[in-house]
Amino acid sequence: MKVLSGLKLEEIEKFTEQFGATKFRAKQIHNWIYAKSVSQIDEMTNLSKDFRELLNQNAVVTDTKIKVKQVSSDGTIKYLIEYADGNCVETVLMRFDNRANLTACVSSQVGCAVNCSFCATGKRGFIRNLTYQEIIEQVLTIQRDTGLKVTNVVFMGQGEPLLNLDNVLKALEIFNDDFQIGARRITISTSGIIPKIDELAKLELQSTLAISLHAPNHKLRSELMPIENKYPIEDLRKSLLNYVEKTGRRITVEYILIHGFNDTIPVAKELAYFLKDIKCNVNLIPYNSVDDTKYKKSSTNDIMRFKYLLEHSGKKVTVRLERGADIDAACGQLSGKNKK
Ligand code: SAH
Ligand code: SF4
Repeated sequence: MKVLSGLKLEEIEKFTEQFGATKFRAKQIHNWIYAKSVSQIDEMTNLSKDFRELLNQNAVVTDTKIKVKQVSSDGTIKYLIEYADGNCVETVLMRFDNRANLTACVSSQVGCAVNCSFCATGKRGFIRNLTYQEIIEQVLTIQRDTGLKVTNVVFMGQGEPLLNLDNVLKALEIFNDDFQIGARRITISTSGIIPKIDELAKLELQSTLAISLHAPNHKLRSELMPIENKYPIEDLRKSLLNYVEKTGRRITVEYILIHGFNDTIPVAKELAYFLKDIKCNVNLIPYNSVDDTKYKKSSTNDIMRFKYLLEHSGKKVTVRLERGADIDAACGQLSGKNKK
């Protein structure tokens, strides 16, 4: 059975050609999938009954299901999506009251191999890459379920997107062309896979690159992120400078604040110095507690002090609002723990 969702128009044309369908029919199917977000071929009511029957014998719109759906008191919705092979990932829809944006936080892999010490996904280990169709399917699931159009996408769910770059790039193309979500409304967050950042620089990527830095030096960073031993922070810095030069784009630096560990005055000053020449905004993320880690969230006072010190160095700094904490949908809490 061919899965139609996540296919580009040319792919739908190629598939339906064998049933003698015109390009116009393919366009209609495409419209049902992306603009009207249907889940059944029978809902495509401007196709003839015979043609729908033929399609039904050979294809489905989707082969995934919503296994769990949780709605937070702040309007955030978390979906646990089950793929055909029984693996699950989480996708989160975030709304911000003061904006018309609907942001989908998507997963790029089942689990993650990078194994950061503060992250629930990392604790699960790596299971497999998602295909581009499976990435797209997460956004279609949200649209079908809510009847709304997603306007922004962030690759901040489970997985390291730059370790599944081919599928992520193909998904970006589909978000652009088939969903009309512009490149600048898409953010890719990475733990710092240097060769892949260099590849994105060559492609002059117009989406936002968010880099999970979390510490300003090798010693602190390697305690949080084993990837620091493979791609050390000084090399990362060079790669980021090159990225900004090639793309002209401002990057986002993500920084989790952990009490007494990386939220002190000297560390803030060191971070300001590290970022001095890098064109970036900083997004501070109050650490979300994940079972059995030794870390604690910074106090509001320390968060504000850290923010102030960075702002003083000339950076634009935001503190990330915690979304969906009451349903375990906050950053780093996505583990797919309800699997099977
Ligand atoms: N693998 C990519 C993208 C997914 S993680 C990356 O690491 O960037 C998305 C963001 O959530 C990252 O900035 C990550 O550091 C952050 N995060 C992970 N665990 C967290 C936790 N327990 N509390 C707060 N943020 C967390
Ligand atoms: Fe993987 Fe990102 Fe979690 Fe690190 S923070 S383990 S890179 S998902």
